[in-house]
Amino acid sequence: MSNTIYSCFQLNSVDNDKLTSKVEKSNSNVIRAAFYKEKIWKQFSTITISFMNDFKATSGVLSFVPLEQIDKVKINDIKLDREMRDPKICPTYSSMFKYVISKRIEPLINLKLKWLPNRTQNANVRITFDSKSGSWSTLGTDCLRKIGATLNIGWLDKSVIIHEFCHTLGMIHEHQNPYGKPIQWNVKNVLEDAKSSQGWDKCVTASNILCQYSKNLINGSDYDPLSIMKYYFKDDWVKNQKGSLPNWSLSYTDIKWIYDTYPNNNTTPEKFYKEIYNLNPPTSTPITTTPTSPTPTSPTTTSTSTNSTFDNFKTFIKEYYRLNPVLTIVILFIILSYIFVQIYILINKSK
Ligand SMILES: [Zn+2]
Repeated sequence: MSNTIYSCFQLNSVDNDKLTSKVEKSNSNVIRAAFYKEKIWKQFSTITISFMNDFKATSGVLSFVPLEQIDKVKINDIKLDREMRDPKICPTYSSMFKYVISKRIEPLINLKLKWLPNRTQNANVRITFDSKSGSWSTLGTDCLRKIGATLNIGWLDKSVIIHEFCHTLGMIHEHQNPYGKPIQWNVKNVLEDAKSSQGWDKCVTASNILCQYSKNLINGSDYDPLSIMKYYFKDDWVKNQKGSLPNWSLSYTDIKWIYDTYPNNNTTPEKFYKEIYNLNPPTSTPITTTPTSPTPTSPTTTSTSTNSTFDNFKTFIKEYYRLNPVLTIVILFIILSYIFVQIYILINKSK
């Protein structure tokens, strides 16, 4: 169990190709996380939510992340993990979900979450519990345009519930940020592990892990290594052999971002942080020397490739060529023709 990779699938289900033009900078000049402006919910709007299935807390349908795994991290908010596993407090999976969101998200936001009866098909957010399809969510208001489930929980602990619901609020992954020094992925290892542990193909892995967002598309936040929106990754996923610890709790930057996006005047980020961790908020902003979050570019998108995106670029090219053999031949033909013409011109000039 300890070797299980808990990686969420950020589902860009509607218009993946166009997403890159829709991320804009936040007005906040403080620390912030990346988001899609057009996918953010309107202030003070009501989001209706329904569970499409449900199980007793003791059913064993989904596995729990071991508490000792969560307890390894210094700031882990593990009390909430214990509470959600208590059948007296949360007798069902749906009650766990509601409990965690009521404690960690609702107090921060001005959106009203309206929980409808189970299997209400026209709810804005439709949640399933299915161990076979991993954990994933649509991004922000994309759920309004999707048929079927919009969020799935594939294993249980408080962080996966918070992480997926933050996607629903419009937050995007934190490990694909193009700002700062990029992560040098061991692409082969990442692809193999994502395939074996999640069943992800190359495109899904590229858009959820390997691809970076274009700088002009995101809100330009500093990288937050403590973000709950960042993946855990193993040592052999990166070239320096220094993987990333899992983040099981909201970071101060996460809290700030959620609050700044949907400010609830009943609290402040500082007050909320103190309440849940019994600690003062960190005074420094997140480090700026590693990659972060945003909108996966399509594997076929050509980007202004630099050294910082070299691994990504190679992955795209390989996938692109695999999918477009005819186009590849045409491109090669054009390149060879160009070289031939240049040689011909040079020879003639020398005469
Ligand atoms: Zn995710």
